Amino acid sequence: MKLKSLGIEEIEALRKIEFNPFIRKYKRGMKRVALVYPNKYVGGISNIGLQIIYSKVFENNAYCERFYYDIFEGIRGFENSTPLQNFDIALFSLQYELDYFRAIEILKKSNFKGLKIAGGPAIMINPKPLTGYFDAFFIGEVEEKVGEILEAKSKEELSGIEGVYTGKEDKVRRVKAKVGTHIPTEIVGKGVYGRCFILEIGRGCIRKCRFCVVRSLYSPPRWRNLNDMPDLKGVEKVVLVAPSPTDNPNFIEMLEYYVGKGFNVSPSSIRADTVDEQLIELLHEGGLKTLTLAPETASEHLQKIIGKGITSDDILNAAKTSSKRFNKIKLYFMIGLPNEKMDDVKEIVNLANKVKEIVGAVKISVNPLVPKPHTPFQWLPFGGLQNVKKGLNQLKRKIEYLKSETSRLKIDARIPDIIEYAVQTILSRGDESVSKVFENNDFKGLSKFLGEQKVDEVLPWDFIDHGYSKSMLLKEYEKVIS
Ligand code: SF4
Repeated sequence: MKLKSLGIEEIEALRKIEFNPFIRKYKRGMKRVALVYPNKYVGGISNIGLQIIYSKVFENNAYCERFYYDIFEGIRGFENSTPLQNFDIALFSLQYELDYFRAIEILKKSNFKGLKIAGGPAIMINPKPLTGYFDAFFIGEVEEKVGEILEAKSKEELSGIEGVYTGKEDKVRRVKAKVGTHIPTEIVGKGVYGRCFILEIGRGCIRKCRFCVVRSLYSPPRWRNLNDMPDLKGVEKVVLVAPSPTDNPNFIEMLEYYVGKGFNVSPSSIRADTVDEQLIELLHEGGLKTLTLAPETASEHLQKIIGKGITSDDILNAAKTSSKRFNKIKLYFMIGLPNEKMDDVKEIVNLANKVKEIVGAVKISVNPLVPKPHTPFQWLPFGGLQNVKKGLNQLKRKIEYLKSETSRLKIDARIPDIIEYAVQTILSRGDESVSKVFENNDFKGLSKFLGEQKVDEVLPWDFIDHGYSKSMLLKEYEKVIS
């Protein structure tokens, strides 16, 4: 869980390269707000949600600094190195379950005594394991509620705000924001996409992939068009972000516009079945170096189970079309899917090898499925088998196979440690009892959150109303396991 800390020269270099239109000096009486991202700077600066919150804090005349885990261990601010304990309120953005460990480490090390509020996708999924560490959680898109949150002086005052969960509410309805005009400006720093302006072109998704939380957490799909976008100055690159950007009906028009204006342009992802010559030419002109596609699985019967609607033919067609302009493709896959056999895993290697033959080089990333709350897969066991131990052993065998075959075929493969994914599953599906892992890494008795969840039981996250009906998820789950 540890991440390498940046040295002072590296921090100075990042400070120098940043353009921050919101810098302001602290004046007496101002609320001091810490925006904490318990992961790497490069991820935090590329996150549009954090950019929006930072600009909203500024609009509310507060003083704000950002805190990243790899910068001063997350306990001093990026802007002015101010200690976290000097702030009145800390807003934590938790994107991934494994960030919980680092968030708690920051809270303990900094001796922070102000109001502690957490939000972000992991919290919108299930905040229960963290209830002992934060005063409140925000369920939803927070931008229109930042002012109210900053005015609150206590946990009790936070409790009345729409979307806030303090641990005692029986139900919380997710807050949806209006996705109108884009924020007019933002911090430009060097993140995972390089130094660029992040443009959010949509929220939510029109697809219904059964493993994905986006359909529940960010419904309904909302798109922006060119008229909603800000004037850009002082940047060479823009990144068009959305859960599935190529589904935005205005996507090609936007891409043409920014490429035509001379920007380097990169979308946050591309659906394989939207790849055609026009798209490839535009991406090439926009300076994209590697095409990244996420087939998730290479086997036909598993494609039906996950419901993504991307076939191996879509991937091969995308590879053929892109081979004139790209000589490398990156592919994302999952293993541990329901009804998955070793032959299905072999198909991953076969598909990757075919793509390599077409374009020249392929890189694959294969992750175990985390059966997430608020999806039709929320009742599935981790590892794909009812017996968790057998499921874990089978996953290990699949991973060993993938490692040896990809090395034999000289396929560049990133195959992670399955334990990390088992921990993610426990943290995303667990209740308050899970918090003991943060104190002494004690996982005893928690394997029940890895196993199959009972369909007639109340689940720890059922108190969150995301606007879908549980019976609809159940119907889909029954189709998957029948
Ligand atoms: S996996 Fe992608 S396409 Fe499918 S629902 Fe999620 S965001 Fe949409």
